[in-house]
Amino acid sequence: MVKHILDTPIEYLKGVGPARAEMLRKEADIRTFGDLLHYYPFRYVDRSKFYTVSEINSDSAWLQLKGKITGMQTIGTGRTARLVMTFRDHTGETELVFFQGLKWIKEKVFVGKEYIIFGKPNYFMGRYNFTHPDIEPADEEAQLQNEPLQPYYSTSEKLKSRGFTPKNFVRIMRTLISQVQRDIPEILSPRVLKEAQLMLRANALTNIHFPADIHSLGKARERIKFDELFFIQLQLLRLKYLRMEKVKSRKFSKIGDYFNSFYHNNLPFELTNAQKKVIREIRADVGSGKQMNRLLQGDVGSGKTLVALMSMLMALDNDSQACLMAPTEILAQQHYKTISRMLHGMPVEVALLTGSTKKSERNELHARLQDGRLQILIGTHALIEDQVQFHNLGLVVIDEQHRFGVAQRARLWEKSEIPPHILVMTATPIPRTLAMTLYGDLEVSVIDELPPGRKPVKTYHYYEKERLRVFWFLKEQIARGRQVYVVFPIINESDKLELQDLMDGFDTISRYFPLPDYHISIVHGQLKPAEKESEMKRFLEKKTQIMVATTVIEVGVDVPNATVMVIENAERFGLSQLHQLRGRVGRGADQSHCILMSSYKLTTDGKKRLETMVRTTDGFEIAEVDLHLRGPGDLQGTQQSGLVGLKLASLVKDEKLLKVAREMAYRVLDEDPQLENPENQPMVRYLQSSEFDWGKIS
Ligand code: ADP
Ligand code: MG
Repeated sequence: MVKHILDTPIEYLKGVGPARAEMLRKEADIRTFGDLLHYYPFRYVDRSKFYTVSEINSDSAWLQLKGKITGMQTIGTGRTARLVMTFRDHTGETELVFFQGLKWIKEKVFVGKEYIIFGKPNYFMGRYNFTHPDIEPADEEAQLQNEPLQPYYSTSEKLKSRGFTPKNFVRIMRTLISQVQRDIPEILSPRVLKEAQLMLRANALTNIHFPADIHSLGKARERIKFDELFFIQLQLLRLKYLRMEKVKSRKFSKIGDYFNSFYHNNLPFELTNAQKKVIREIRADVGSGKQMNRLLQGDVGSGKTLVALMSMLMALDNDSQACLMAPTEILAQQHYKTISRMLHGMPVEVALLTGSTKKSERNELHARLQDGRLQILIGTHALIEDQVQFHNLGLVVIDEQHRFGVAQRARLWEKSEIPPHILVMTATPIPRTLAMTLYGDLEVSVIDELPPGRKPVKTYHYYEKERLRVFWFLKEQIARGRQVYVVFPIINESDKLELQDLMDGFDTISRYFPLPDYHISIVHGQLKPAEKESEMKRFLEKKTQIMVATTVIEVGVDVPNATVMVIENAERFGLSQLHQLRGRVGRGADQSHCILMSSYKLTTDGKKRLETMVRTTDGFEIAEVDLHLRGPGDLQGTQQSGLVGLKLASLVKDEKLLKVAREMAYRVLDEDPQLENPENQPMVRYLQSSEFDWGKIS
C-alpha cells in the first residue's frame, strides 16, 4: 500500500532534516507532513501595522513595535535568573523580560540594533512590560510585510533556538503547502458539503495558514471546526446505531417482588419527583428490548444511590444479576454498607469485591457469582478483572463515571453473552455541549432536585485576617456536636513543600483546638491505605471532630454529621473541585456551611470562581461558569477524553456549529446506517485513518 504523502515523516520536508524533526516532535508533537499541516496559526497579524510604546494602554491585545534595544541586564542567577532588556522607540521605553533560553537570546540580540518585537504587554507595578516577546532584527522582518494577514505560530524558546522562529515557521509552512496542496483529500460527502455549505477541505487547509482575505479565513475556520465536531458525532452515533441494530438485548419485562417489596416495606423515605422521573426513564429503557446506555447526572446528595439500587432490583426481578462499580475502595465499601442496610430483611445476596478482598473469600465469591446465587456485586475496578464471571449479568451501574472511559465500559459488556444494561452515574454536572460530545452515545437523565429538608450550604469568602473569627465559629459548631472538614490544596500529593503547608496548617489547628477537648484526623496521599482508612474511620465514628485533609476526600464520602467545610487557599482550586468539596457537607438536615479562605492576591478568574461559589449551589450553573472560564480541555473528566484534540472548535463558542454537525451526522446515518453508500466512503476512510484519533476519545 502506498502511504499517503501526508504520512511522510517531517524530516523529509525541505528545510527540516533529522535534528529539527526531533525537536518538532519533542516540543510540538509534530511527526509527519500531516501533523504540520494541522499545526494551525494561533493568530494572524496585520504586519503592516506598528504600535508605539506610548500607545500601549491595555494588556489584552498583541502588539507589534519597532525600536532599538538600549540596554540588557541579567538579574539573579541559576534557575531564577532573568534577562531584562530596555526597548526604546521615539515615544518612550518599555522592558522585555525573558526567563528561558537566556543564552540563546543573548547571542542573537545586540544592544544598539533595531528590532521588531511582537507580544502581549503585561501590567506590572504600574508599568507595562513584555514577557518573552518575539524579537526579530528589523531589516530581516521587512521582507514578510507584503502579506495582509500573516499567520502566527506558537513556538517555544527551544524551537526558536533550532531556527523555528515565527518567521521561519511561516517559510516552512509555505514549503509544505505548495508540496501537499493538490493531495489533500476531501473527506466529506458531496451531500454534507452542500447541505452544510462548507468550503472544500484542501481550500480550507490552505486558507487557514495563508488566508486570501478575512472572509476566506472565516470559511476556512468554519470548515475545519466542522470536521473536528462532525467526525466525533458521526463515530459516536454510528456506534449507537450499530449497538441498537445488532446488539441482542435482554428485556426486563416485569416489575416483581424484589422491587415492590422494597418499595412498600424498605424505602426509608418518599422518593423525590426527580428520582421517580429517572426511575421511570430507566424502567422504560430496560423494558424496551434494547440495551440501555444511560448517563444519570445528579448533583452530590441528590440521591443517586437509591436510584441505582431500585434499578438493580428490577434486574433481580427478571432473574438477572446486577453490579455496582465505584472508583475507590472507600466508596465501594460505603455503597456496600448503605445498600446492605437498605435491603435489611430482604432475601437478597449482596457482596463486596475490591482489591483487598482476601483470596479465599474471593474464590468463594466467584463461585457464588458464577452459579447465580450472588445477586448484587459491589466493588471497584476489581470487577472488570477477567476471572470475575457472572451467571447472568443484567445491569451494570457505574458510579462517578469520569474515572471510567468508554473502553472500560465496553469490557463490562463482555461479562455477559447478551450485553447488560448500563447505567452511568456522575455527580459532575456536565454542560450540554460537553455531554453531547463526551457521552454522545448515551441517553441522559438528570436528577435536578435535592431531597426535601435539605438546606443549601451557606457559603462565605474570608481572608486570612478573619481566621480567628472562623476558628471561633468552628468551636461553636463543634460544641453543638458537629464535625468539620479543613481541606488544603495539594496539587501534587508527593510534593514535599505542599505537604509542609498541610502540616503547618495542621499544627496551627492543633494549637487552637488542643487535646483533650478536641481530636483531629488527618488524611493525605502520603499515608498508607490502612492509615487513611483508620483516620477516616475515626472521623466517621465521631471520635474526631476535625478532619484535616487534601482533596483525597473529594469523592463520595458521606458523613452527614459534618456540617462545616473550610477550604484553605480556595483560590487555588478549580470550580468543579470546589463544588465537589462543598458537596461533602449539607448531607443531613442541619444547616451546613462552607468557608472559602483566600489570600488577598486574587486573579480575575480566581475572584470569579469564589464569587460563583458564594452566589450559587447549582452544579449546572457552576459547570457553565467553569466551562467559560477554563475551556473544556481542563474540565474534570475531559483530560483523557481527547477533547483536547479539538484544535479550533470550542465547546463554549461553537455550540451552534456542534448542533449542525450532530444533525448532519444523524442525516447521514438515517439514510445509510452502515455507511455503505459509495458517496460516504471518503468519510469512512477518514474515520479509519490515523488522522482521526478515536483512541484519544475513548
Ligand atoms: P449522591 O447522589 O451524591 O450519590 P446519595 O445517594 O449518597 O447521593 O444520597 C445522599 C443522601 O440523601 C443519603 O443520605 C440518602 O440516604 C439521602 N436520600 C436519598 N434520597 C432521598 C429522599 N428521596 N429523601 C430523603 N433523603 C434521601
Ligand atoms: Mg454517590
